[in-house]
Amino acid sequence: MRILPGGTLGMLGGGQLGRMFTIAARTMGYNVIVLDPDPSSPAGELATDHLCADYTDATALEYLAKTCDAISTEFENVPAQTLEWLAGKCIVRPGAHAVSITQDRIHEKSFLRDQGFPTAAFATIKTSQDLSAALQQIGIPAILKVSRFGYDGKGQVTIHNQNDAANAWQSLKQEACVLESQLPLQTEVSVVVARSFDGTVAIYPIVENLHRNGILDISIVPARVSAEIQQQARAMASAIADKLDYVGVMAVEFFVLAGNKLVVNEIAPRPHNSGHYTLDACVTDQFEQQVRALCGLPLGDTQLLSPVVMVNLLGDIWQQDGHPPAWEHLLNHPNIKLHLYGKREARHGRKMGHFSVLGDNLEEIISVAQQVKAALTNQQRH
Ligand code: ADP
Ligand code: MG
Repeated sequence: MRILPGGTLGMLGGGQLGRMFTIAARTMGYNVIVLDPDPSSPAGELATDHLCADYTDATALEYLAKTCDAISTEFENVPAQTLEWLAGKCIVRPGAHAVSITQDRIHEKSFLRDQGFPTAAFATIKTSQDLSAALQQIGIPAILKVSRFGYDGKGQVTIHNQNDAANAWQSLKQEACVLESQLPLQTEVSVVVARSFDGTVAIYPIVENLHRNGILDISIVPARVSAEIQQQARAMASAIADKLDYVGVMAVEFFVLAGNKLVVNEIAPRPHNSGHYTLDACVTDQFEQQVRALCGLPLGDTQLLSPVVMVNLLGDIWQQDGHPPAWEHLLNHPNIKLHLYGKREARHGRKMGHFSVLGDNLEEIISVAQQVKAALTNQQRH
């Protein structure tokens, strides 16, 4: 069944991803109800209705189920039981099964290994014995990552020697973790893929990602990697979506190693920060695609219209008193698009917005992106 404009869509989570979904859905004539406990939720502010309640709040969930034609999520940490309960009453995409695998690194990595996808060598850590045994087997350097609720490099510690190990696990509060081998990365790439309820898949152009302090900093499209890597990434992302029987938009992060070798890092069951370039550079952006997949519409064209560089804007570039960066450095460029997420408070490491630079010459726009970012960071006014 197709849900057409005029229908009502539910969104679990009201951060920037929910906000950009809300903009896409409302642009197309849908109503959007956002569930998020934060009263100043970036998506809630633009939604038709904002339910300010927890993801397990029975009254809010009943209201959503009763009012919405279909429900999606922007946030992998929505309890899988919430999705299961809603799915009994209403269309929910992606389904609880896919989300429950991707919200837990132990399940996610085990799923990837069992399905034959290449991952870094890893082990499940639940006791200190597990950790010593895994370090013997995997070797050093290794990265210990909490199994649940890690993001933007949070909940991870690199282990350089055996003595680090106990402290590392202590610092992660001895939660269930995975230990994985720290790989020599040539670069990182990601792929956003959409899969429709009938199994049709639409794949976006491969993105090259540069991280800083574990947080995505810059995304470059087209990615400067071989055609072979691009082909492998596309094939793996599409196969992962099939194996998860995924319906909706998801992203796969990959590590690129020497010798054209590709390793899957993680899966996000939602649109992805590295896919924000699609807003300005593709026929259909990843949020419209999320609306289309959710509503059972044909998937939109993923074609790239122009080379593009996306730069994240973190709270770090706001001044102590909350004064914003000198936007004129950016707005003076006719080929730069600014996106701000409406977050009230700029905190260190918090994603406040991004900008995209468009142009025919990739090396030129990379350099413009870097200059503008540096100018905003240094707060130099011309
Ligand atoms: P998050 O959920 O915080 O995005 P990731 O597992 O993607 O967690 O790790 C964040 C970043 O840390 C990666 O994009 C990569 O730059 C680096 N990283 C993570 N795991 C490894 C690894 N096994 N080897 C080398 N670098 C890694
Ligand atoms: Mg990641």
